[in-house]
Parts: sequence; C-alpha cells; structure tokens
Amino acid sequence: MRAINFNAGPAGLPLPALERARDEFVEFQGSGMSILEHSHRGKEYEAVHDEAIALLTRLLGIPDTHQVLFLQGGASLQFAMVPMNFLPGDGSADYVLTGTWSEKALDEAKLLGNPRVAATTIGPDKRYTRIPREAELQLDPKAAYVHITSNNTIFGTQWHAWPQVGSVPLVADMSSDFLWRPTDLSRFGLVYAGAQKNLGPSGVTVVVIRKDFMARGRKDIPKILRYTTHAENNSLYNTPPTFAVYLMRNVLAWIEAQGGLVAMERRNNEKAEILYGALDRMSGFYRAPVEKAARSTMNIVFRLPTEELDDRFVAEAKKQRMVGLKGHRSAGGVRVSAYNAVSPENIRTLVSFMESFAKANG
Ligand SMILES: *Cc1c(COP(=O)(O)O)cnc(C)c1O
Repeated sequence: MRAINFNAGPAGLPLPALERARDEFVEFQGSGMSILEHSHRGKEYEAVHDEAIALLTRLLGIPDTHQVLFLQGGASLQFAMVPMNFLPGDGSADYVLTGTWSEKALDEAKLLGNPRVAATTIGPDKRYTRIPREAELQLDPKAAYVHITSNNTIFGTQWHAWPQVGSVPLVADMSSDFLWRPTDLSRFGLVYAGAQKNLGPSGVTVVVIRKDFMARGRKDIPKILRYTTHAENNSLYNTPPTFAVYLMRNVLAWIEAQGGLVAMERRNNEKAEILYGALDRMSGFYRAPVEKAARSTMNIVFRLPTEELDDRFVAEAKKQRMVGLKGHRSAGGVRVSAYNAVSPENIRTLVSFMESFAKANG
C-alpha cells in the first residue's frame, strides 16, 4: 500500500505517471529496450523529449518569445548560472530575500558581481514569515535583473502577485510551485525549477527563458554554462537526464489529462483551504506563523505547543502512513508539502488525524 507522501522534495509523484513508467520500463513501445537504454539522439527518446517540451508549452501557454530548456545541476546550479550569464562584473542585480533559497542565490551572485538586496523579510529571529509589500522594494532601474523566489519551500510563504519591476527582467526560482496554477510567463526574463518538487524526479531542471534576454548573456564563459548553448541544441548539447525527462513527460501528460493548470489550481486551492481552515479552527493548539496574505499553497508550516509534541505528531502520523511531515531542519515544527500529486482526500485524512491528535494532547 502506498504512503500518503508529504515530502518536500523529492516529493510524491502521481501514481498514473509511475504506473505508466512501470508498464513500459523494460520494453519501451516495442523497441526491444528500455527508454533508459536508448540513445538521446535516437527517434524514440527525441519524441519523448519533444513531447515534454510541447506539453510544458501547451500547459503554460508559453509564447514564441520564450524557450524551454532542460538542464541539470538543480536549482542550485541556476543560482550560479544566472549571475554568470547576466551579471556584468561592474553592474548590479537586485535580489529579494524571502527565505533560505533566496539567500543561497544571492551568495552565488556575490562571487561574480555586486548584487543588491532590494528587500528582505527576515525577522529578528532569522525566520521569514512574509513576502515584502510593493512599497518595500527598493529597485534599481539599472539592475541587470530582479531575482525572486516565488515559493519559499522551507518557511511556507508564496508570492501571490508579482512585483512591478518595470523593464528590468524578472527572474524567479519557481522550484517548489512551478505548474501549481496557470502562470503568465511572458512577463519573466527567466524562470527555473528543479523538477523534484512539483513536476517529476530529481535530475532535470526546467528553465523558461526569454530569447532576447538570453541573447544578452556573456560569451566568455564555458560553453556548457551558457543558456544559448543549450537553446541552440534543443537541450541536447550533451546527454540530457533521459529518464528524468521521460518521467517528467509522464507527469505533464497526467496534468493535462486532469484538465491542465486550471484543474491544478482548483485542486491546490481546495487543499490549502481545508488545511489552513483546520489550522485557524484549532489555533489554540496549532500555530501557523506565516502572515495570512503570504501563506503558501504548496508548503504549509505550523508548530505545536512544544517541540516534543511536534516530534510526537510526526511520529504518530507516520504510523498512519503519513510521511514527510517533519519541518526543515533549519525551521523545525511541521511542514506539509502539498504539491500537485497530493489529493484533497490526502489532506482530509491529515486533518482528521490533526483533530484527534489535538483532542488527545491539548
Ligand atoms: C529545493 C529548492 C532548491 C534547491 O534545489 P536543488 O535542485 O537541490 O538544487 C532551490 N530553490 C527552491 C525554492 C527549492 O525549493
């Protein structure tokens, strides 16, 4: 029997995507071999690769001005690749700090140029519990780009309206909320997302980049680190992570079969309403630290009255097959990661456990 998987990443995948992989694992479409064994230059793999790009393009309505890339190295390599390509040594870029991952992105940029902090929502206790208001952003109109983290996986906050950045390209780390709802990517210079949160297994990172922004990238860095190299080769410059792309294709096909991103948004909002509703109802026992306007639909964090109860909650939930609920080691508490693959039914099961746990321990 499968667990109810609330892991933050790698995270649960939709069962139909896994079953499809199982059914064609040893022999892919009568070809006498597994997709893992096919050349990345062969027609079988290329069809999968192109289908994954086509599905992403359809689901998000990505315009011709932008290109989809499949890279490796996770979001962490993007922390470095973005400034390598676009931060000129004597210029600056704006970083908005809303959590640990934005700090890491900033740290890489500092090694390459002079990034500025355009806003930070770090609290006196070093925690982040909100997204900055528009008026707090001190943007430099000459910045090479503005970098944000659209969803803060560790602290459970999410941008619900994009910042106004004028003509400066907006760059977003969307690792933990890419494809959670319809998103107009035409306003972004670049977005990136490691697949292992909301769209597939680890090993592939999706980048959607505006072509005219890409053309500004430096030419004096190693070829493998230039976006243009991957764009010119349809992400087949070197051997791509073929199995990760294949499995992501299965997940994307599942999303489309569910009704696309409109259906994902409905599903994710329903889950968030059920869970935050429960937290608000039982606020004497469960404390949700995030400012209401900044609550994440993907990673829902809360604490119990004591750390000991946090631990007992996680351990008892596990006995009922609910896994992955321990908060990030730097934040503590409980974290429910409710990516696309998590169903409203899964959240209802969790909430009824929360109710009986509060009754027994409150
Ligand atoms: C998980 C995560 C990362 C790190 O991703 P890797 O693929 O491990 O490099 C970066 N940013 C966000 C928002 C994340 O959730």
